[in-house]
Amino acid sequence: MSEPLSKNIFWTPGKVAAEQRRQRLGQSGCVIWLTGLSASGKSTIATELECALFSQGRIAYVLDGDNTRHGLCADLGFSPADRRENIRRVREVVRLFADAGLICITAFISPYRADREEARRLVPRGKFIEVYLNPPLAVCEQRDLKGIYAKARAGEIKEFTGISAPYEPPLDPELELATDKLGVAECVSTILERFNKIPVA
Ligand code: ADP
Repeated sequence: MSEPLSKNIFWTPGKVAAEQRRQRLGQSGCVIWLTGLSASGKSTIATELECALFSQGRIAYVLDGDNTRHGLCADLGFSPADRRENIRRVREVVRLFADAGLICITAFISPYRADREEARRLVPRGKFIEVYLNPPLAVCEQRDLKGIYAKARAGEIKEFTGISAPYEPPLDPELELATDKLGVAECVSTILERFNKIPVA
């Protein structure tokens, strides 16, 4: 938990226990954190995974990088400091969602290892599944759905991950998926299989 800047603020404990929530919802909160380069497949897999979980009767919700930059993080750019602040805000939301009992799926490049590790630290042990989507950069660049790699190569977009800004791959992710070789459905079922191993999920 961050040390608050302000003094004279106090934590108000709730009266609903985690176990009561679990019984009501039939699930306990967890985080499925997708990380990888732009066009590696994060949004596609996140939305399909959310649908699959929903149709199994689960309560899942996607936080997507481009979407949160329309609201919660609309004031942030792509400098290293802004990227860190972006993920700091997101991981605090993720922590709240997981605490509320939701299955929170995130689709953020989240290029810095330390920021992802901090996100992991905020949720109970064993409830954080880091999924590294790792198609080669060349494949992502070929997909270039939004034309952004072309712009980055032309120097029109500065600080673009994989081209002119770093990406620090996870060292020990729960899953690593080569989305250039596997289909979307296969990726989703692999994640579901891992999800089903979470105790009392
Ligand atoms: P990101 O959110 O990482 O920027 P997107 O999900 O927006 O990536 O784009 C990934 C593109 O790659 C989509 O057009 C998707 O259909 C395609 N694709 C091909 N195979 C896969 C796969 N196995 N997983 C995810 N996306 C895939």
